[in-house]
Amino acid sequence: MPLFPVRPEIAALSPYVPGMSIEEIRERYQLENVVKLASNENPLGTPPLAVEAVRRCAEGAFRYPQSGNPRLTAALARLYNVDAGRIAVGNGSDEILDMLIRMLAVPGRDNIVCFRPCFSIYPIQSRICGVEVRFQPLGGDFSFDFDALLQHVTDRTRLVFVTTPDNPSGYCPPRDEVLDLAAKLARQAPQALLIVDEAYMDFAGDDADGERRFSLLASGNLPANVAVCRTFSKSYGLAGLRVGYAVLPEETAQYYWRARLPFSVNVLAEEAALAALRDTAFREATLRLVRTERRRMTERLREIGFSVWPSHANFLLCRPDDGGPDARSCFEALLRRGFIIRPLGSYELPDHLRVSIGTEQENDAFLEALKDALCELKARPPRAEFF
Ligand SMILES: *Cc1c(COP(=O)(O)O)cnc(C)c1O
Repeated sequence: MPLFPVRPEIAALSPYVPGMSIEEIRERYQLENVVKLASNENPLGTPPLAVEAVRRCAEGAFRYPQSGNPRLTAALARLYNVDAGRIAVGNGSDEILDMLIRMLAVPGRDNIVCFRPCFSIYPIQSRICGVEVRFQPLGGDFSFDFDALLQHVTDRTRLVFVTTPDNPSGYCPPRDEVLDLAAKLARQAPQALLIVDEAYMDFAGDDADGERRFSLLASGNLPANVAVCRTFSKSYGLAGLRVGYAVLPEETAQYYWRARLPFSVNVLAEEAALAALRDTAFREATLRLVRTERRRMTERLREIGFSVWPSHANFLLCRPDDGGPDARSCFEALLRRGFIIRPLGSYELPDHLRVSIGTEQENDAFLEALKDALCELKARPPRAEFF
């Protein structure tokens, strides 16, 4: 019994498992260079205009941010041609997702519905809240069976989560299927909000037109029961500054601003986000690089003995083919060589790995390290099954 007892939800919690840090691996293996391909960060780094904005505004750090981040909400409203009253910004989209659960679901009474595996923030924040999580397992190809998902919806369901493109698989459902889900949900459970998490939507499709074809937000026609979340952490290159945004039903957005902690998006983060929106050259270079390298990495990984799922995001889900080493050994052999990727035990996929798309040089070095690791693992006897 802890000296200061915590709520049972907290005592029972399995926390979010982040990607390992470069510092940690550098120290553990005494390495000079470590490449991190574990958290789907931008391969090109921070947008130059955002770096400049943070430098320029550093001396304003003693001021509180303007309440409601009005410049950023106005810029996002213009970008997506929606009313500024519908925009929420937060300390990463994680904050918005957490707030929506806390705002809409009553602990001990209501539930949320999502696929399993899914982005682990949804179930973790729900459990912290004391809100039941109802899961629909994904099939082997990781595609979405929305009718099966709807079977879990009850009159106590307040939120249904869909990630598109999905993490960790990279699967992206056709937009019409998501719209059809929204329509069926509206009939079946009018009190439930469909959260469409488009964190990776800018990477969807084979060409620059992909986002327009797959995105609900870009379609300019959001059903009344849909909220779309986006982030500055991936294609905009600002993961460390923590800025996310969402387009919510107007009334929900008003409650969001009422309930959110007053200054969660700080002054430098807001300036950097505004600059990142202006840095179209950086963003276009990012999208081009990810699409080119995603294609190349998919082919190369298949050539060296991995199953790779088709991805619409800036990462690949893969698994060593039969007769190959186990995923955990691959992950550890890569760590020793200075490459951090993501094992997926915390997503209940212990046989799979997720690797972020890096620069061309990083990807080449990664592939060489992986080939080297496969040779080493082949030379070793298979791991004991019983211990
Ligand atoms: C990375 C990611 C986010 C964004 O998280 P931030 O808090 O904005 O950094 C949201 N949803 C999914 C599925 C993600 O993978």
